[in-house]
Amino acid sequence: LPVIWLDDRLVPESEASVSYSDRGYYFGDGIYEVFRVYGGHLYEADAHYDRLERSAREIGLGLPYARTEIDDILRLLLEREHVQNGTVYMQVTRGVAPRSHPFPADAKPVMLAYCSDAARPIHMMQTGISAVTRPDIRWLRCDLKTLNLLGSVLAKQEAADQGAGDVILHRDGIVTECSASNLMIVKDGAVLTHPADHLILHGITRAVVLRLAGEQGIHARERAFTLEELRAADEAFLTGTTMEIVPIVQIDGLPVGVGEPGPVTRRLQQSFEATIPS
Ligand code: PLP
Repeated sequence: LPVIWLDDRLVPESEASVSYSDRGYYFGDGIYEVFRVYGGHLYEADAHYDRLERSAREIGLGLPYARTEIDDILRLLLEREHVQNGTVYMQVTRGVAPRSHPFPADAKPVMLAYCSDAARPIHMMQTGISAVTRPDIRWLRCDLKTLNLLGSVLAKQEAADQGAGDVILHRDGIVTECSASNLMIVKDGAVLTHPADHLILHGITRAVVLRLAGEQGIHARERAFTLEELRAADEAFLTGTTMEIVPIVQIDGLPVGVGEPGPVTRRLQQSFEATIPS
């Protein structure tokens, strides 16, 4: 059985259960991170810890451990499970307390963490996926990686019901991001993506891709764009920790550009590949 980190100790999966009164369960009152593991190493670990600490601070949650302690726990899990290529999931809830909205006076935050093997989505990266557009019904702090994911869950299910690979969200015609990844489009050789404000998650893959674009001499701008600009794009792709860079070749049943992964997307995929430790 896999081992799980739960509330200060390593336990076999069969013993990893939580209280019905955990605020994560009642309110989605907590935060999380998903890390990529390549060759047994956490990819962009510091960026993930920075974001975790920021999410915690912004919801007034005290993390139960220092960054170095969390890092030790995640590495211990990777060693115990012999995960070379995969993911680490971790979350921290505000803890166990009688159901009442205000922060409890003395609840102790509960951390859960585990790792799993996961292959890179090679097929999707090569052939691309389809997407449908939907209104972004999530809240106004999408920059925080909180456990409240119902808006994304409903959007992703609508995409699945339509046989689409993912959903592209928009607020009144302004494109924000996908259900669990950021979105970039390419027009006339230049990359466009929504600014890292409160309406999108500040993706770590997004930041890596913007940096790589700069290094490659590809013009990249953080600016909001409309559904019309999305439909007129030459290329579109999503970015995320587990998906890396996946081309979107069809939107709402219509081809993006020529309906195949485009040259700028390909170049960025190649430069991303070069950042992966072998
Ligand atoms: N946007 C949302 C809503 C997400 O949930 C995620 C990742 O899970 C991302 C973007 C991509 O962020 P990252 O590249 O840090 O995985």
